[in-house]
Amino acid sequence: TAPDNYAVFGHPISHSKSPRIHRLFAEQTAQNLSYVAEDVPADKFKASAEHFFQNGGKGLNCTVPLKELAWQYADCLTERARLGKAVNTLAKQSDGLILGDNTDGIGLVNDLTVNHHIELHASRILILGAGGATRGILAPILEHRPSQITIANRTLDKAETIVHEFADLGTLSSSDYPSLGHQLFDLIINATSASLSGQLPPLPPGLLAPNGCCYDLAYGNQPTAFVHWGIAQQARKSLDGLGMLVEQAAEAFYLWRGVRPETQEVIALLNEERGSPTPA
Ligand code: NDP
Repeated sequence: TAPDNYAVFGHPISHSKSPRIHRLFAEQTAQNLSYVAEDVPADKFKASAEHFFQNGGKGLNCTVPLKELAWQYADCLTERARLGKAVNTLAKQSDGLILGDNTDGIGLVNDLTVNHHIELHASRILILGAGGATRGILAPILEHRPSQITIANRTLDKAETIVHEFADLGTLSSSDYPSLGHQLFDLIINATSASLSGQLPPLPPGLLAPNGCCYDLAYGNQPTAFVHWGIAQQARKSLDGLGMLVEQAAEAFYLWRGVRPETQEVIALLNEERGSPTPA
């Protein structure tokens, strides 16, 4: 029988690891599917998605700069996607409607808590950045009842808006970078796009509590500037977002196929391929 069709849309997309990850999942779980990457700029998103689903496509992943457009495109939304105002996974349901989900946050939470045994409950968390990624990760993190989340951003009003929108879900506050001094955090999550240009948000020293951890949503073949910063702050763990990438893919795969792939062997393989051992 013909395989079911899946794809990731984004712009740029050529370096995406998603096709590799989903093909590894399909092999591992014996699912008959194809998964390709398509370069789709924002102004072509709607027509491309329509074409894809009308021609039998079963599911799409959407990445930069399409997550908000995918959120608008979906016929119905999961609660976490509704709150995040961003969709990274579209699924054609049996009734023909397109469901929009956001698996980024649960992907991050699974990488932190399951793969790396980092406790979120009752912890003091600092999130850097107030863009789509921050919106996407907040609800799943808040489910673990951290004692406090601070969102720091260069443009303070963007952080303030997010704090306002998520206020019902937990204790949140906003800050600019200079005012962060003299506070201590158990976990610092970099959800800015600074790493993509080798930069670091302007962090004052002394923010990380003893035994605290750092996590950069960005990843590359080399450790990011923020991963290096975490090491210099003597973080217990200083991790990048490769594990999150695999975990968000696994959640999308589960939504589409109803089968949960084993993620740790895929993370280990991708780490090996970029020449770094899997961080403990
Ligand atoms: P957005 O463009 O929506 O937001 C970017 C944010 O970064 C803004 O808050 C911006 O601040 C801030 N920023 C950019 N440059 C700097 C800088 N030099 N110093 C301080 N702040 C800076 O991006 P997204 O939220 O969509 O993505 C953020 C990151 O998360 C990206 O690196 C992306 O690759 C990664 N990501 C990883 C995933 C994974 O699976 N591992 C999944 C999703 C995202 P301001 O508002 O002041 O401009």
